[in-house]
Amino acid sequence: MGRILRGLAGEGNLRVVAAETTDVVEEARLRHGLSPTATAALGRAMTGALLLAQLLLKTPKERITLRVEGTGPLGGIVVEADPQGNVRGYVKNPKAEVPLREDGKLNVGELVGGGVLRVDRSLPNGEVYTSTVPLVSGEIAEDLAHYLWQSEQIPSAVLLGVRVKGEGEVEVAGGVAIQVLPGAGEEVLGRLEANLKGLPGLTPLLREKGLEGALEVLLAGLGFARTDLRALGYLQNEIPARFRCRCNREKALEALVFFTPEEREEMIVKDGGAEVVCHWCGEVYRFSPEEIRSLVAEVRCPDCGALWLYPKADGTLFRIEGETCRCGRKVELPSETRPQA
Ligand SMILES: [Zn+2]
Ligand SMILES: [Zn+2]
Repeated sequence: MGRILRGLAGEGNLRVVAAETTDVVEEARLRHGLSPTATAALGRAMTGALLLAQLLLKTPKERITLRVEGTGPLGGIVVEADPQGNVRGYVKNPKAEVPLREDGKLNVGELVGGGVLRVDRSLPNGEVYTSTVPLVSGEIAEDLAHYLWQSEQIPSAVLLGVRVKGEGEVEVAGGVAIQVLPGAGEEVLGRLEANLKGLPGLTPLLREKGLEGALEVLLAGLGFARTDLRALGYLQNEIPARFRCRCNREKALEALVFFTPEEREEMIVKDGGAEVVCHWCGEVYRFSPEEIRSLVAEVRCPDCGALWLYPKADGTLFRIEGETCRCGRKVELPSETRPQA
């Protein structure tokens, strides 16, 4: 289990969110079979999404989705997080790898490549606000700080770090986001800048001093005070962070509706059943011929649950109009889908 802390520094003019995500990133690595650099890329993105969820989301039901659409060998990253510390994510090519940088570090920027960062942020009224910014470096932290400034007019410093060892196991992972509020004076900004400049990087700090110790160094002389999260129901004064997917057996079975009845029958004859793998978390669901045949042709949005397709009582098929769901997701329906008798 990871954890998220919140607090204020610089006489209340710096808003601080920090996360320790070692277990969360290790779970992502194991679930997806990630290469070392892919682990760092997805781990940074997942940690960043957890931090942004704290900074930008207002109510528990909201979610933030980051899509890093880079041209590098990784082929893209998708992560989703909520303010309760739940996060899930995947990359297009989990085994993709590139040589280490000259300084011996994992070359996340090269693996990700150039491209854009797309952020979908749900609003309290259920609408989705989307914005796209160019990737600055593909190293993720800089890209998120750039997004916060370009799209949200939030000046911030974002630090993300994932360190792997030996076989690729995650040794330490975490991140810190510091939002500069409008009242921050020159003295506070100068001190913060000096602290950041003298930093050896976030991972050595996390490794040697832990999350609280890292914050002491980062915010030295700025009087960091933790926000009491117990008032929000978090008894340990921190928000637990975990890899948690929203998939389940029922939704996985529904995914088979994307195939025609003929194709489904072929799965039964050829494979004796069907297997559905959740791309978010890698979970494998196996279905028997009976389950597949019991399937009602109904398709719902995997994100918001809106009905996209279902057989009406008169035998005709209801099909959602337009190409975009109310939540912003692109509607995917095979043209041949027919309700099964
Ligand atoms: Zn899943
Ligand atoms: Zn939807």
